[in-house]
Amino acid sequence: MSDALLEVNHLKKYFPITAGLFNRTIGHIKAVDDISLSINRGETFGLVGESGSGKSTVGRTILRLHEKTGGQVLFKGIPIHELPKAEMRKLRPKMQLIFQDPYSSLNPRIRIGDAIGEALLDHGLAAKEEIRDLVLEVLEACGLSPYHYNRFPHEFSGGQRQRIGIARALVLNPDFIIADEPVSALDVSIQAQIINLFQQLQQTRGLTYLFISHDLSVVEHLCSRIGVMYLGTMMEMAPRDELFRTPLHPYTKALLSAIPVPIPKLKRERIVLKGDIPSPANPPAGCKFHTRCPYAVEQCKEQVPEFRHVGNDHYVACHLV
Ligand code: SF4
Repeated sequence: MSDALLEVNHLKKYFPITAGLFNRTIGHIKAVDDISLSINRGETFGLVGESGSGKSTVGRTILRLHEKTGGQVLFKGIPIHELPKAEMRKLRPKMQLIFQDPYSSLNPRIRIGDAIGEALLDHGLAAKEEIRDLVLEVLEACGLSPYHYNRFPHEFSGGQRQRIGIARALVLNPDFIIADEPVSALDVSIQAQIINLFQQLQQTRGLTYLFISHDLSVVEHLCSRIGVMYLGTMMEMAPRDELFRTPLHPYTKALLSAIPVPIPKLKRERIVLKGDIPSPANPPAGCKFHTRCPYAVEQCKEQVPEFRHVGNDHYVACHLV
C-alpha cells in the first residue's frame, strides 16, 4: 500500500485573460499544466524552478487557495477540491502554508503571541484560557523566548520573523506544510539556521513538507526527492542524490551548473541559458524549453516530450534522453 500523504494527479491551473467592455476571456495563462507528484508521510519534496515557472501556483492550488482547472489533489486519500466548504475548513489546520515574507501577513499593531494564537481561536481548536500555553510551547519549539510573546512584529529580525511564520503554522498542529521560498530573503547563515529548524521540527513532529525554492542548493540539504519545473510543467523528478549525481534534463543541468562549489575540480561547466522564461500565456510549441535549450533539435519545436521513467525513480521529459 502507498504511504503517500499527498497525491497530485495531472493538476492544471489556468488563469483567464480577459479583455474588452464585457471582460470576455481571450486566452489563458497556463500557470500549472499537468503536474503529477506524490509525497510520502514524513518526507520533504523539493519543487524547484525559476521565477515564473508556476511552482508557487502548484503550492496554492494543492492547498485549494486557488481552485483547480483540472486534475486531482488527494490529501490522506481525500479529494480536497471536491470537499464542501465546511469540510475543507475543518481540514485546513492540517495543511499549512509558510510564506517567504511572514511580516507582510502580520498586523503591525497585534502582539506576536496574539497573532499566533488567533488561528487557534478562528478554527475553534482551543479554549481562550489554553491559548497562551499553546503559543508559548510553539514559540519555544521555534527557538523563540517567552518574552517575545508581547513583542510587536517590527521588533524582530528577518530570521526571527520566519520563526514566527513557522510558529503560526505549527500552532495548528499540521501534518503537511508547504514552505514557499521560506529562506530566500535571508542571509546564508540565517538560512542554515531556519533549514535546521525545519529538519528538527520534522523529526520531533513527523511533519511532511513541500519545499518550494528557485535555488537547488537550498533544497539539496532538506529534500529527499526533487522536482524541477519549467513554465508550468515538470521537466525532471528524481531522488536528491540521483538528481545531483546524474541530472538528465538540460534545464536541470543549467540550474546545477549555477551552484557555487567549494572544490574547484568538482565544478561543472557553467551553462548560461539564453533569454528569459517565455510567457505562460503563450508557451512555445513542442518542448516548452526549446527556445532556451542549447541542445534543441527540429523535433523539439513540434513534439512535446513524454515525461517518462528512466529507472531509479528518475523521470525526465526530453527527446534526447
Ligand atoms: Fe532541449 Fe529538446 Fe530536450 Fe527540450 S526536448 S530539453 S529542447 S533537447
